[in-house]
Amino acid sequence: MSWRADILTLFPAMFPGPLGESLAGRALENGTWSLKVTDMRDFGLGRHRAVDDTPFGGGAGMVLRPDVVDAAIGSVADERPLIFLTPRGKPLSQTRVRELAEGPGAILVCGRFEGIDQRVIEARGGEEISIGDYVLSGGELPALVLLDAVIRLLPGVMGHAESGVEESFSETLLEYPHYTRPALWDGRAVPEVLTQGNHAAIAAWRKAEAIAATQNRRPDLYAQYIATGAAAP
Ligand code: SAH
Repeated sequence: MSWRADILTLFPAMFPGPLGESLAGRALENGTWSLKVTDMRDFGLGRHRAVDDTPFGGGAGMVLRPDVVDAAIGSVADERPLIFLTPRGKPLSQTRVRELAEGPGAILVCGRFEGIDQRVIEARGGEEISIGDYVLSGGELPALVLLDAVIRLLPGVMGHAESGVEESFSETLLEYPHYTRPALWDGRAVPEVLTQGNHAAIAAWRKAEAIAATQNRRPDLYAQYIATGAAAP
């Protein structure tokens, strides 16, 4: 059965966009996942199909109306998780990505302007997700980011079943560095252990590199790694 994505947006032409290419594009063509895009403008009010209004309490910008967004959600809602992309949301994690990939799909609501009236988020019991601590102009790129992360984990999308297992974040560690041919490039040799075919030594070297990179680059993740006891022999 296909993993079903629904997108609610004011800019339907942004989809599938990059997800029509490469692994995700092939998976879309062969039915591993499916995509339905709903233009929230179709649920706009009056002759001008208005979707937004000025914020209560004053301030710059416009806010998407709860009645309009609710009607758009009502046209697609089912048992799938309902997700609002917003910088106020919980940061997206590989753990949540993996859970979503194991489910039936997701309904993703893309904000624009100053965002969406909070009441419709509460009324619908939606989950708020952020893709990072910076502000984009709309939820479309965040929705594409979330979908890309999920789709590559769907069965059959990646070449090797394992290639999703060893990666960064799979056990709160960053991944080890990668090397390919030529073995000597620009005066730089590939780490010797990788060329000697000793698989146990390679695994040990990769683990040590992953730990060192995490400790140097992401002390926050390293602290988690130590706290979970994963570092214990
Ligand atoms: N005024 C809002 C930002 C609105 S940005 C605030 O300060 O919180 C407009 C829309 O872009 C948002 O409704 C949301 O859907 C999307 N967006 C922007 N940055 C995002 C991020 N980091 N993660 C997820 N969605 C984001």
